[in-house]
This record gives sequence, structure tokens and C-alpha cells, in this order.
Amino acid sequence: MADILDGKAFAETLRAAIAAEVAALPFKPGLAVVLVGDDPASRVYVANKAKQTVQVGMRSFEHRLPGDTTQEHLLALVQQLNADPAVHGILVQLPLPKHLNADKIIAAISPAKDVDGLTVTNAGLLAAGLPGLVPCTPLGCLLLLQDRLGDMTGLNAVVVGRSNLVGKPIAQLLLQQNCTVTIAHSKTKDLGALCRTADILIAAVGRPEMIKGDWIKPGATVIDVGINRVPAAEGKTKLVGDVDFATAAPVAGIITPVPGGVGPMTIACLLRNTLTAAKRIESPPT
Ligand code: NDP
Repeated sequence: MADILDGKAFAETLRAAIAAEVAALPFKPGLAVVLVGDDPASRVYVANKAKQTVQVGMRSFEHRLPGDTTQEHLLALVQQLNADPAVHGILVQLPLPKHLNADKIIAAISPAKDVDGLTVTNAGLLAAGLPGLVPCTPLGCLLLLQDRLGDMTGLNAVVVGRSNLVGKPIAQLLLQQNCTVTIAHSKTKDLGALCRTADILIAAVGRPEMIKGDWIKPGATVIDVGINRVPAAEGKTKLVGDVDFATAAPVAGIITPVPGGVGPMTIACLLRNTLTAAKRIESPPT
């Protein structure tokens, strides 16, 4: 039976380390979160982000805008936050309402304050192996892997999913760790056989329990990024990952559960990115 990688506990330790570092700074890092509309899931995420930001000793600036906010108004707010010296990190909660152009809004965020790591500048810095801001969920996966595996040199990593938010940045991070990385997607042939070659298997697909135990190499490390809400007993719903935990856990060496695996790492890494951004802005490297 696999070791269960407890992301909740790891995230708590990470937040405590961030809080200690923030307490020792001569200034307070600030994170601005922008929410447009009233998507219930986004409202919960934003509230959690604000709460945890304050808990680690940072300043939280929440901007809740109505669902009919115009592109111009949102762009003006982003520009205002770019110029605000109290704000070191800016996060625009996605998805945005359909009438807004998310790519243009993200492009307007100053790369130095882009704590979601989604601007083309930060994606380019990551691809070039230069210091930038790395998307939070991929960074969380890396920290979990580094903590458990240490040196990953020469390991075969298969990343299932190629989104700009998750799959591609995770692949870049694993390449930097000297893994041999393969990125799989919906057009990949014989995905099961490919997954069975993986010493490290990352599932970032968005398909509930798609990856079964017989796709997993015995002893492999399995990181399940997926968060899928599915029907459960008595008309309720539950969260499951992209990996079928029941059949995968007996085969894998190490596995993240859903919930309680990668999920809690995302906000902790957002705080870590805000701290990184704040330190660079306040005392830029010479
Ligand atoms: P996207 O929908 O943007 O990307 C999904 C990727 O999976 C695509 O590259 C797609 O391929 C690939 N894919 C879809 N179906 C298959 C298939 N049958 N076989 C192989 N590959 C397939 O999703 P995200 O990357 O944004 O998110 C992935 C998962 O991670 C979701 O469950 C999401 O909820 C979760 N997530 C969790 C976070 C956390 O905090 N833990 C944060 C962000 C996301 P193609 O490109 O060919 O279409």
C-alpha cells in the first residue's frame, strides 16, 4: 500500500515558515485578489485566500466587482494595483465572466506582481529556467515531490495534461529537476502504456478517476492534481481526483489523496509567491 502524501500537513508547515519570515520583514507584503461576479466556488476560494493571507501576517486587499464589470473598468483596476506600492501580489480569480477577455486582463498584470505565474513573461522565464513567479499548483506539486523524493535526477516523469495553468509548468519544473519528462494529452496514443513507464506520474486532466491502478508502475509516485465533483450517495456530491485512488493506492509507492493532497498546497504557494514577489520588489537583486 502506498504512502499517503499529506498535502494538508505540508501546507500548514509551509504557511508557518512563511509567517515566520513575514514577521521578520521590515514591511508587510500585500496581496490583492480581484473577484468579478458571484460564482459560488470562486467566492469560497477568494474568502479562503484572504483569510490565510492575514493569518501569515500579510495585508489582504479584496476587490469584489459586479458580474457586469466592463473590460475597461477591470483593466483600470489592474493598472491601479500595479502602481500601488502596498500591493506586491495581484491575483485575478478565474474563470472571469464570458464577456471579459481573460488573456488581456492577465497580460495587464505586472509580471513582478503576477503571483499566479500566468503572464507570458513568467511562463517564458520558467521555460528558460530563469527566476520568475511559478504557477501555484505546479509549485505545490514540486515542493511535495522534493520533500518526499529529494533528488529526482534521471527519473521518468509523465505529466497527463498540457494546460498553461498546470500541465506545462509542472513539466518545466520536473525538467529543471533533471527528470526525463513526457507530456501526454487527449491525443496521446496508448496512454496506459505510457503512464506505466512513469516513476513520477502527474495527473492533471479534469476527468474523474480516469487513471486506474493498472496504468501505474509498481512503486511509482503519483501526484493527483484533479479536483472533480461527482454524485455520491443520498443525492450528495463528493470530490475525487483524476486518479482512481482505490485501485492506484495498492500499486503506487507514494500517492496524494483528493481532497487533502495537492489542493491545500495551492494557497500556501500563493502566499509563498507573494512573499517572493514582495522581497524582490522591496529589495531588487543587484
Ligand atoms: P484543462 O481542462 O485546462 O486541461 C486538461 C488537460 O487534460 C488538457 O491538456 C487535455 O488535453 C487533457 N485531457 C483531457 N482529456 C484527456 C484524456 N482523455 N486523456 C489524456 N489527456 C486528456 O484543466 P487544468 O489543467 O486547468 O486542470 C486539470 C485538473 O486539475 C482539473 O481537475 C482541475 O480541477 C484541477 N486543478 C486543481 C488545482 C488545485 O488546486 N489542486 C488547480 C488547478 C486545476 P488537450 O490539451 O489535448 O485537450
